[in-house]
Amino acid sequence: MTLYAITLLIWSVGTGFALYQNWLVRMVDHTACTLAYLNATTITPAIWPSLLKGNLFLLAYACAGVSVVSAMFFYLYRLSHQLINAQTDSRHDTLTGLHNRRALDEQLPLLLRHSQREQSPLTLLFIDIDHFRLFNERYGHESGDVALQAVAEALASVCQRPRDFICRWGGEEFVAVLPQTDSQAAEELAQRMLQSVRDLRLHVAGHSSPQLTISIGHITTTISPHTHNEDLIGAADQAMLQAKHRGRNQSVMAQTATHPRNTLITCDREKT
Ligand code: GH3
Ligand code: MG
Ligand code: MG
Repeated sequence: MTLYAITLLIWSVGTGFALYQNWLVRMVDHTACTLAYLNATTITPAIWPSLLKGNLFLLAYACAGVSVVSAMFFYLYRLSHQLINAQTDSRHDTLTGLHNRRALDEQLPLLLRHSQREQSPLTLLFIDIDHFRLFNERYGHESGDVALQAVAEALASVCQRPRDFICRWGGEEFVAVLPQTDSQAAEELAQRMLQSVRDLRLHVAGHSSPQLTISIGHITTTISPHTHNEDLIGAADQAMLQAKHRGRNQSVMAQTATHPRNTLITCDREKT
């Protein structure tokens, strides 16, 4: 009797799956397979009537119920997966696989609040690939995309602590936020990033591996209630532009001052 019950249960769940798939052919296939299975086991069609006796309607209702519940389960399971994937996609950059700016907008306030509570220094780095327009012009946009992926990987490999956050800010620019990182550690990490990009060996058809460099601006500060996301990003961005002015392929530390807003450091924003 247990075998019959298990068989019916499997059949009902299978019907639910076929219902969910909304695929008539599958339903027919599934029924044919089930009948073949029943024939292969001791449940021959000849003994069905004696098995079912007067419970045919009850059994049919039970099977239909299990099928519908199974179909709903499969549908909700798929829906939850789609939702999770959509959420993950909306926070990631499709080219590099890093987080995107939207993720930064969500994460930065949380990281700042956490650092403020801990009263520990937080570092933000603004990273820009040098002369990337020229790179695209010389080696093609596709090679540029490959180079962007390689740079993203190199930068991410430097940010190894669980709470370190790195994202593609846009174009050929990246932002890294490193909690519990003082200015000395920030400078060391910036040097490691510069070196990891210099060490990249890119393969471009018909060219001997072209080299890339980056410029980095970084700021380290202990967060106060008056610290704003834009202030930190603006300060690191300006420091990065100073690195460009000084000849690129280097890092510049922003001179911190706390407020008022947008006066964290002063430097000429005009690019060379
Ligand atoms: P600088 O050293 O002053 O930063 O010079 P730059 O050429 O890197 O800066 P600019 O802002 O003039 O050019 C950025 C270039 O980055 C322009 C664009 O062709 C390239 N770029 C931005 N996004 C992508 C992308 O997704 N793929 C590729 N291949 N190139 C991109
Ligand atoms: Mg740029
Ligand atoms: Mg650039």
